[in-house]
Amino acid sequence: MVTGASSGIGAATARLLAREGFQTVLGARRLDRLQQVAAEANGVALELDVTDAGSVEQFAAAVEERYGVCDVLVNNAGLALGLSPVADTPDSDWAAMLEVNVLGLLRVTRSLLPLIRKASHGHIVNLGSIAGFEVYRGGAGYTATKHAVRAVSRTLRVELNGEPIRITEVDPGMVDTEFSLVRFRGDEQAAANVYKGLKPLTAEDVADCIGFAITRPPHVDIDEIVIRPVAQANSFTVHRTQD
Ligand code: NAP
Repeated sequence: MVTGASSGIGAATARLLAREGFQTVLGARRLDRLQQVAAEANGVALELDVTDAGSVEQFAAAVEERYGVCDVLVNNAGLALGLSPVADTPDSDWAAMLEVNVLGLLRVTRSLLPLIRKASHGHIVNLGSIAGFEVYRGGAGYTATKHAVRAVSRTLRVELNGEPIRITEVDPGMVDTEFSLVRFRGDEQAAANVYKGLKPLTAEDVADCIGFAITRPPHVDIDEIVIRPVAQANSFTVHRTQD
């Protein structure tokens, strides 16, 4: 199962899992986009809004009915909204990020856990970020959610200890996806500026790390993978060329 599989890292992960021989089930809100990815990933596209408890329950029920089991859950759906300081940020931006990145991830995990427990060995992969342990100006809302994802990953590892379920958190730096376009609400210039003068990671670079963790032998739990572009030393120390 891959949430947020209609674009970026989720879509690349779905394609990679299909190449590894997994039967993929993809969830996101934009069903047309999701169906395109599902066709490439030999998978099933199911509409999913992780902020809607009913939608999550329906998704889990559909998975149970079709397969009765979930071997791997990739909690990838997520977003950042805006880059304004705490003093100028509306509640609505914080609430939207918390709803998707934290509550959505928790909800999907809770709903699919009974099916993950039916797998001979299960695996939950959470998309964190370097924003889960670093901060930057204008990032309070988003970094708070990714710090929370880190807490959830570590909590799950304790709660599920003794069961054959692995928890991996993958923490990327800058990845060139639709992420910045969403953050800047469709402003293409602002989104392009984020990646100007450097070679960012691609969605495939991150999917590659997810694939590595998933394909280790069942007793090997890759706890965390941090991956950044070589030009990015931390959230705000980024080397850019002039051209
Ligand atoms: P992206 O291209 O914008 O993809 C985000 C995905 O999340 C989309 O498929 C979107 O699908 C889905 N999504 C958003 N809200 C949703 C909701 N309410 N219910 C279900 N799906 C929802 O961005 P990305 O870079 O691939 O981001 C994937 C993950 O990586 C996120 O968790 C992000 O925080 C993390 N990350 C990204 C970067 C980066 O620089 N790009 C760095 C570190 C971590 P729909 O709109 O169709 O629902």
